[in-house]
Amino acid sequence: MRGLFRHNRNNQDSCAICHMNISEDQNGEINGMNQANNYIHCPNGHFLHIEPCLKNWILESINCPVCNAPYNRDIVTKFKVIAEKINNRREKQQKQEQVIQKAVEEYEQIENKEIIPSDIDEKLFRSKKLILDGNYAAALNILFDILDNKDPNNHVAKYLIGKVHFLNQRYELAVTNFTRLVKSQLDYPLAYYYMGKSFEQLNLPDKAKWAFKHSLSNIRSLINKPEIDDVKESKLKIIVQKMETFISTL
Ligand SMILES: [Zn+2]
Ligand SMILES: [Zn+2]
Repeated sequence: MRGLFRHNRNNQDSCAICHMNISEDQNGEINGMNQANNYIHCPNGHFLHIEPCLKNWILESINCPVCNAPYNRDIVTKFKVIAEKINNRREKQQKQEQVIQKAVEEYEQIENKEIIPSDIDEKLFRSKKLILDGNYAAALNILFDILDNKDPNNHVAKYLIGKVHFLNQRYELAVTNFTRLVKSQLDYPLAYYYMGKSFEQLNLPDKAKWAFKHSLSNIRSLINKPEIDDVKESKLKIIVQKMETFISTL
């Protein structure tokens, strides 16, 4: 069957998704699939790597990404199960993450409402408001002014700069800033939390997990501090509980 379509293909076979080479061996094929050589092709001779290209693609469609011809049913059945498992796990993790994010935001709302009288704290208060309004450039101006002219070691300002970069989807900058902060100030749980979220966006799941774990242990020690107030404590406890479950799935 496939011989009929051989002229459709290049001499050099390559994967329709990642465009990297595929080494074809027709003798090892069963139903258009050669597991030893890690490829599969549709009835019209369009090749894909099984790992990871087909396994990712089959989350979207059971047809060839080039010509839309359906793959052999046995193959689809075999990978659909994997695909559905992956999908279910992803959906579950996404839901857990949303719950954590909501709890974090509720905790942040309490922090944002704290009114503190000094000049620096007034500036911090103002920059938090600007961040909430999405006015990141103005917030950064104030925060850099604090670090440059008032208090070069101000942890909150450093944290908020990292947060702005995170919200602005500048994840590498966010990681750089949070890393600097946690070097000097070890108990900054939300810095580790947003560092983890940034690593996630940068497709670095191991580092994300590492950062989430740090965040978790920092939050635990924050809860144990005698000066923590009840409202914050209860919010933090919720975050801990949700995060423990989430990390265990990573
Ligand atoms: Zn590929
Ligand atoms: Zn095709």
